Amino acid sequence: MHVAIDGPSGAGKSTVARRLARELGCVYMDTGAMYRAVGLLAHRLGVDDRDDEALGRMLEAGVEIRAALAPEGQRTLLNGEDVEDQIRTQEIGMAASNVAACPSVRRALVAMQRQAAQGCDVVMDGRDIGTNVLPRAEHKFFLTASPRVRAQRRCDELRARGQAAEFDQILREVQERDEQDMNRKESPLVRAADAVEVRTDDLGIDEVVQVLLALMGRA
Ligand code: C5P
Repeated sequence: MHVAIDGPSGAGKSTVARRLARELGCVYMDTGAMYRAVGLLAHRLGVDDRDDEALGRMLEAGVEIRAALAPEGQRTLLNGEDVEDQIRTQEIGMAASNVAACPSVRRALVAMQRQAAQGCDVVMDGRDIGTNVLPRAEHKFFLTASPRVRAQRRCDELRARGQAAEFDQILREVQERDEQDMNRKESPLVRAADAVEVRTDDLGIDEVVQVLLALMGRA
């Protein structure tokens, strides 16, 4: 079984997807973490995160992105190094959005994602899962919330990680990232025609999970 969960940043996708995967006994795959890892690598190597050719060469040189299970949740490994904390900053979020607009990066990561999903039950979250990565997924959801609610959630998340977060700045960055993700040429963020849209403004995580399970006939 394949479950695709797409939507803009801060809509609650990753927390919901992780819980849903646990309820269903599926593997959870956070594709945003992969774009973040590529953004981090470009940043470290001084590669322009909007230069498609340079990013393509960087990936061809061999990059391994994996997820490791840990007691406190999933950790992202870049060439074997745990980079989970480093990829969760606003700066790397923007770098991820920049590299994600490059065809060479999307080609490489989409191939990895499709391969990982082959032959296993997976809940995958991202921006293009229902439209491009797993177009034949049995269940597709598109989670949304207003920019203010999403910015507040991002602030709470950053503060919980011990990072400084100023609401107005985060709101601007959320809007900038939406704008870029929705208007890029390559796989823009858009609801798949057969995805069910769920607005999460007034719902807690447990409620969203229950709504999705009900829509899947599993409640
Ligand atoms: O979901 P998250 O905020 O971690 O994603 C970081 C960035 O990666 C997004 O802003 C988006 O540009 C990109 N992304 C994407 N396609 C995906 C997942 C993430 O383009 N499937």
